[in-house]
Amino acid sequence: MMTIIEECTGDCRPRVGVYALTSCYGCQLKLATVQKIIDISNMVSFESFYMLSSASKMAADVDVAFVEGSVSTERDLEELMEIRKHSRILVALGACSVNGGVQSWAEGEMDHDALHKCVYGDSKLTMQGLQATPISKHVDVDYYLPGCPPEEDEIMYFISAFLIGTFPEPKDYPVCAECRLAGNPCILIERGEPCLGPVIVAGCKARCIGFDVPCVGCRGPVPHETAWFDSLAQTFLRKGMTEKQIRQRMKIFGSHDPNIERMLHSILGGETE
Ligand code: SF4
Ligand code: SF4
Ligand code: SF4
Repeated sequence: MMTIIEECTGDCRPRVGVYALTSCYGCQLKLATVQKIIDISNMVSFESFYMLSSASKMAADVDVAFVEGSVSTERDLEELMEIRKHSRILVALGACSVNGGVQSWAEGEMDHDALHKCVYGDSKLTMQGLQATPISKHVDVDYYLPGCPPEEDEIMYFISAFLIGTFPEPKDYPVCAECRLAGNPCILIERGEPCLGPVIVAGCKARCIGFDVPCVGCRGPVPHETAWFDSLAQTFLRKGMTEKQIRQRMKIFGSHDPNIERMLHSILGGETE
């Protein structure tokens, strides 16, 4: 466990950095616009947060760094290494950072050169692109704050936990639990919709199902290896989905999770066209 409490004199406010690698900037926008951020803004010192101040620097010495985005370029990788060096606690902020996000879907499907050619043709770019990966592939991550983007109450929970010198505990139950509490009809059972709620960690209050849209798994699997993608794949097969549809669905946000392919392989066999 890592906390921010330590001996200090002078300005003892926790120093916070908010950084973005390759991303849509939605997570830091969410953090910047959390209603209660005003209440705690004088209790922390934002040393680096480009969305709030152009005086920010990369990378500042901070107690807690929130890092949004996937590692998708050489520059991302260099910046991430610097951030890690200058941070006591590092939090992966949002789906891109936690699991690579939708931009990492090609992992195991297409190599980076083929993907680059598919998008940019023979154009020469100065940007040195990489296959998009979660930040944990490159540096130690202390805590994970999932979501696309994360929920306001979870952002406040994380910041509050750090402020009082404790640590944020991950949820260990699935979206289905919140979905049932919300009183939604089950669109998987009743309509055969490809909902990933049974294997995805809760925290969004079943946001998508509340809008009659099946879960695509942006928050990532429930922890402690209790996300039974194999069992859910069998259910999807019974509901009429093809093997290819099941794989694609489960890997939108899960292409970097070896457990998913292992479990799918046990049910579906090898990759199918
Ligand atoms: S996790 Fe979602 S909201 Fe956050 S940067 Fe990635 S795409 Fe944007
Ligand atoms: S709709 Fe989806 S999240 Fe809700 S109970 Fe059914 S499977 Fe679970
Ligand atoms: S229902 Fe699923 S896809 Fe929608 S916000 Fe929640 S975890 Fe993400």
